[in-house]
Amino acid sequence: MAERTLFHKIRDREIPATVVYEDDDVLAFKDIHPKAPTHLLFIAKKDADFVPSIDDLSEKTAHVPLLLIRKAQQFAKEHDISGYQLRFHVGKGGGQEVFYLHLHFLSEQKID
Ligand code: AMP
Repeated sequence: MAERTLFHKIRDREIPATVVYEDDDVLAFKDIHPKAPTHLLFIAKKDADFVPSIDDLSEKTAHVPLLLIRKAQQFAKEHDISGYQLRFHVGKGGGQEVFYLHLHFLSEQKID
């Protein structure tokens, strides 16, 4: 098995994080170094959905980015956030530090 990343440990509650949303498929938590008033990270929870990076997507994991985008959209709606940015950093050259696929959600609007 590949090495477990920081986000595996957050997912498995071995490292604390401020979780703002969770269901069977997805976990969302606050970025520890926020770049906007709201800066969240969305990850897929299931081992079968694990993929290190957009660069590693396969037929088996192609649905994962859409899953994260859809949950981010629903989260925004539920929290009355009307404007936000969604980002994937891809590879070291793209600024990616944690190789567990995650969607950055940034907004100038604050959540409670
Ligand atoms: P990336 O550069 O796309 O790999 O993003 C990794 C993100 O994880 C960065 O924005 C970091 O600030 C964030 N981060 C690192 N450690 C933690 C942590 N313990 N809890 C929450 N976010 C973290």
